[in-house]
Amino acid sequence: MIKKSEKIGIVYHPDYLLHTRSDHPERMERLEKIIDLLEEKKVFERIEMIEPEPAKIEEVALIHDMEYIRSIDKACRSGQYYLDMDTYIVPESYRIALLSAGGALAALQGVLSNKTRRVFALNRPPGHHAEHSRAMGFCIFNNVAVATAVARTAYGLKKIAIVDWDVHHGNGTQHSFESNPDVLYISIHQSPAYPGTGDIYEVGFGPGKGYTINIPLPPGSGDPEYLMFFNQLIIPVLDQFEPELIIVSAGQDIYSKDPLAGMLVTHSGFYRMTEALVDLSERYCGGKLMLCLEGGYHLDGQAGAVLQVLNALGQWELEISEESEEREPRDDVQQMLRKILHLQNKYWDL
Ligand SMILES: [Zn+2]
Repeated sequence: MIKKSEKIGIVYHPDYLLHTRSDHPERMERLEKIIDLLEEKKVFERIEMIEPEPAKIEEVALIHDMEYIRSIDKACRSGQYYLDMDTYIVPESYRIALLSAGGALAALQGVLSNKTRRVFALNRPPGHHAEHSRAMGFCIFNNVAVATAVARTAYGLKKIAIVDWDVHHGNGTQHSFESNPDVLYISIHQSPAYPGTGDIYEVGFGPGKGYTINIPLPPGSGDPEYLMFFNQLIIPVLDQFEPELIIVSAGQDIYSKDPLAGMLVTHSGFYRMTEALVDLSERYCGGKLMLCLEGGYHLDGQAGAVLQVLNALGQWELEISEESEEREPRDDVQQMLRKILHLQNKYWDL
């Protein structure tokens, strides 16, 4: 499937470390741990490094209100500390948030270049909670939504699928495209959890009905539950949608030891979810698959998860030290699957 000479791309910029607060879980050490691990495993010898540039204002304005964009610049200049209860800023944050959105755009250019068909943007701050005119949940600009909009307007792609496996529902991304039948948004997340949206009955509006799929799972769900939903819902829907590009909102806060959440996904689970999306991208997208970093707060665990995502992207056959639990999916989660299949059967042949 993958050509031996083919390179996997990673988007990274050292300035991503400048947006940080030592008393906050979304801090620079997350990315430092990832880079340290990739160095230790000699991953940089195998990959193509892509250096991002800040996104242009007009690109960010495809998703965000211009007044909101200006207000972030102003808040950073004025020395303000927080945009909402959770989302801090430092003086550099405006520029770094543009650079983070630019990271998603660099990944997009990478996958469209044919030089690196699979690219993981290791960008921060994360983006999927950021709304049209509001910062939320550690997110300032919605990186994945901006990349999706630019892919459609500047590169002429029509059908794009976004798969969001972050433990939290990507409210901002859903709201950006929920009336649009050309952008399929699938979120698998913990419920109850922040931000409280992402109910199964949120399926989109107007022509976009059926193009939003929410999979809220109870805490304690692990590899068997995630893989069941991949095999029985996510992959069959993507097979019918036939996207030209798949973008993953890759939040590693579903990892089993994450301090902010309660899921039990292992490193093997990350490998297997990625493998499934690699297969799909080969079928419909000419192999184009891009991922952007979202959450993930167990420093070593999320770094190991990123390594296994890259391992699956590159088919490097690195050792996976954590095995998936071999057990049947939980009964309550199987029931949830039946409920969602019944609901989504109106829009998809499931
Ligand atoms: Zn999250």
